[in-house]
Amino acid sequence: MGENMNYPENPVDFINQYSFIDKHEIYTNGAEVIPVFRVGQMLEHYMSDLTPQQIKDMQFCLREKSRECAELRRELQELKERDTAKRPVEFDEHWYKCPRCGKYSGGLKGNFCHMCGQRLKWED
Ligand SMILES: [Zn+2]
Repeated sequence: MGENMNYPENPVDFINQYSFIDKHEIYTNGAEVIPVFRVGQMLEHYMSDLTPQQIKDMQFCLREKSRECAELRRELQELKERDTAKRPVEFDEHWYKCPRCGKYSGGLKGNFCHMCGQRLKWED
């Protein structure tokens, strides 16, 4: 593997060694994470009585959970953005354009775009 692997006696030390805080919140809300391949290495080294299929199954589960987390993170970001009040784009005296979906709405100055749900602000 071209890398000098260091396997401490205790698997928890292995986790501490190879996990990192997702400070820039790229993958999570700033949680501590460990790459899936490191989990695979840990399983192979510390739990060698597991069959290769059991290890594969566990890696598969971890990947699925990682994907679910990423999906939830994207949804959360989208909801945050939608809930952050944005000024409508003024079109003329009576019609306003939503800054998110670009649809026009007239007359009533509501707190939300009636098409996409974007929170709107009318004053600074
Ligand atoms: Zn909209």
